[in-house]
Amino acid sequence: MKIYNFSAGPAMLPEDVIKKAAAEMINWNGSGMSVMEMSHRGKEFMSIAAKAEQDLREIMNIPDNYKVLFLQGGASSQFAMVPMNLLMGKKTADYINTGAWSKKAIAEAKRYCDVNLVATSEADKFSSVPPVSEWKLNPEAAYLHYTPNETIGGVEFNAIPDAGNVPLVADMSSTILSRPIDVTKFGVIYAGAQKNIGPAGLTIVIVREDLMGTELDGTPTMYSYETMAKADSMYNTPPTYSWYIAGLVFQWIKERGGLKAMGEINKRKSDKLYAAIDNSSFYASPVSVENRSWMNVPFTLANPDLDPKFLEEAKNKGLVTLKGHRSVGGMRASIYNAMPEEGVDALIAFMAEFEKNNS
Ligand SMILES: *Cc1c(COP(=O)(O)O)cnc(C)c1O
Repeated sequence: MKIYNFSAGPAMLPEDVIKKAAAEMINWNGSGMSVMEMSHRGKEFMSIAAKAEQDLREIMNIPDNYKVLFLQGGASSQFAMVPMNLLMGKKTADYINTGAWSKKAIAEAKRYCDVNLVATSEADKFSSVPPVSEWKLNPEAAYLHYTPNETIGGVEFNAIPDAGNVPLVADMSSTILSRPIDVTKFGVIYAGAQKNIGPAGLTIVIVREDLMGTELDGTPTMYSYETMAKADSMYNTPPTYSWYIAGLVFQWIKERGGLKAMGEINKRKSDKLYAAIDNSSFYASPVSVENRSWMNVPFTLANPDLDPKFLEEAKNKGLVTLKGHRSVGGMRASIYNAMPEEGVDALIAFMAEFEKNNS
């Protein structure tokens, strides 16, 4: 039976990528070594690393005045690295709070600076993005941080915030590579790999060069963007295998038409899933229509007593990891780039059948 894994992360990888990695597992490109066994400073791995960066730059159209870092520590380490590197002598930073991941970023930033809460949708249980007319931006802030896609709540910004001259920082962990984005609008973009890039253990940071080199006193060497950039992310041993797999994913995206094609497929996949939810009184979406995520689709059953039965029968059809986050309940279907459209179609067909049998 074909398994479709709707996990929020670590998440599905493209089947072609896994097959290629399997074929190369014990002997990469005639080297007689697995990528896992290679020195990060050897010519084989250096070529893998450089190609991955080059392909990412190409698919995201990253300008030359941005560095691309391949780090460890997850997006959660960026919650600290961002203030450490970007405060630049200032005492306050702007944050928008749209859910669980924003909150964690804010809590960490408060250890280093005053946080100006620009806007929050906590009062409506994080089911929307606060309207721009209500934002209280501080033009003197060191930067503006936001979470373009809240992985747990399934809330996504439908436009890039206008931060004026303040550098814009985005935690793109669950939306990077889902469609084209204009990198020039950002000071820093960061993303843990395990949602839409590759395996856990790798964190991608795209940072504008002029924002580096003024980290707080006492910043650990490993937490300095400049140190990592100067060393091409090899100040210490990088997460080599995850970097390699990410490179295979970038190639896979290129072969399929780049981010424009990804965006078209992702829009189609999410549109049809939301339509199935909206066209039924059996299912509901907790998220306001204009802020619905293309990547993480939470939904509830009108009768939550049926949740365990839904999950069990879905699993029997090969539709796994649909249980919603414990803080939200219900279901969540994460449908990143690697989720084939047939997987979404199979979920929609199952939902219709389950509704018919249980209403
Ligand atoms: C998963 C996730 C994180 C945490 O990532 P780690 O790599 O586990 O630190 C942070 N932000 C968002 C938006 C996420 O989806």
